[in-house]
Amino acid sequence: MARRTRQAGVVGRFGPRYGVRIRRRVQEIEEGLRRRQTCPNCQAVAVKRRASGVWACRRCGHVFAGGAYRPVITTSFKRELAPTKEAAEEPGAKEA
Ligand SMILES: [Zn+2]
Repeated sequence: MARRTRQAGVVGRFGPRYGVRIRRRVQEIEEGLRRRQTCPNCQAVAVKRRASGVWACRRCGHVFAGGAYRPVITTSFKRELAPTKEAAEEPGAKEA
């Protein structure tokens, strides 16, 4: 017999709370965070989100600005975001 309900992936932990649309948005974001990201500097798949909009490569230490929840900006708000010198000079404080 077929299941009459299905769990909603990573946002299944919320159960029926908060509403479908916002749960979908959270799911989209969280699955993006778990996905592997490629470094624009060394092409290694070692980029992690350090903070909102701050991305760091664990291999070459490259720190760059990107979207809040993904390393590239995907919205229509397209401004050229060159990697800042300040961010690159900051040593990987959280690395150790
Ligand atoms: Zn890198």
